[in-house]
Amino acid sequence: MSISLAGKRGLIMGVANDRSIAWGIAKAMHAAGAQLAFTFQGEAFGKRLEPLAASVDSDFMVDCDVADDATLDRAFGDLAERWPTIDFLVHAIAYSDKSELTGRFINTSRTNFKHSLDISAYSFIEVARRAYPMMRDNGGTMMTLTYQGSNRVVPNYNVMGVAKAALEATTRYLANDLGPDGIRVNAISPGPMKTLAGAAIGGARKTYKHTEANAPLRSNATLEAVGGTAVWLASDAGSFTSGEVIHVDGGYHVLGMPQAENL
Ligand code: NAD
Repeated sequence: MSISLAGKRGLIMGVANDRSIAWGIAKAMHAAGAQLAFTFQGEAFGKRLEPLAASVDSDFMVDCDVADDATLDRAFGDLAERWPTIDFLVHAIAYSDKSELTGRFINTSRTNFKHSLDISAYSFIEVARRAYPMMRDNGGTMMTLTYQGSNRVVPNYNVMGVAKAALEATTRYLANDLGPDGIRVNAISPGPMKTLAGAAIGGARKTYKHTEANAPLRSNATLEAVGGTAVWLASDAGSFTSGEVIHVDGGYHVLGMPQAENL
């Protein structure tokens, strides 16, 4: 049993810049020997991705807005032309109107509720349906990124907590659907990290400091830590884990209250 990804190839969705969680995963997977393809959202992100992709020996980048079925079809069509089969898929995508990631949850609007759940949860189904035929005959693994605001209340996380709860349930249902074809589906749940999406949540700095001071490991997750978990999941060593939410949060999720020294 090996944790090498030599001979494996896959698609990474959600690199915005070199602080993106998807980028931490891409670097770790490349270091483990995987071949990578990327999607990006719009031209500006594409320009930022180009040198990053080149640094991990990838020249496959395709524009894909997960709210737009036509770009999803084109992205997966282009990928299938190059690689008829893939071994893994990373979905690291979320969006909500920033103005609703602060203040009271009760003020969530219908429009932003629908949009947030569409981009942050439903899109995993659209992506999985298109990746499935490329994994059906050889097995594979799909993973998404979630946060513990799905099952506990985190101030300001608001509608994104509801979206992550839907995403985690989606992960379990996809795991059950695709399991008979040897395809595993999991979610990685890091603690707060300093990324573009992370910074959009009200009070992000305070949350970051709080988890650093109180997590059992007294530290926040790093890109390397999340990358290592993704490599393990995509490798043969992770071959019997499916439908799981794997915390990479220094143990923060087990706490019932802050550390005594911080009260
Ligand atoms: P990020 O801003 O670097 O990445 C978010 C990505 O989502 C971007 O690449 C953006 O282009 C993409 N995206 C948004 N809407 C899209 C659309 N319509 N079509 C295609 N792509 C779209 O931030 P990140 O923190 O690396 O976020 C990646 C994932 O990790 C998200 O699901 C996020 O909720 C999750 N996560 C983040 C943290 C954190 O603290 N940063 C913690 C736990 C989980």
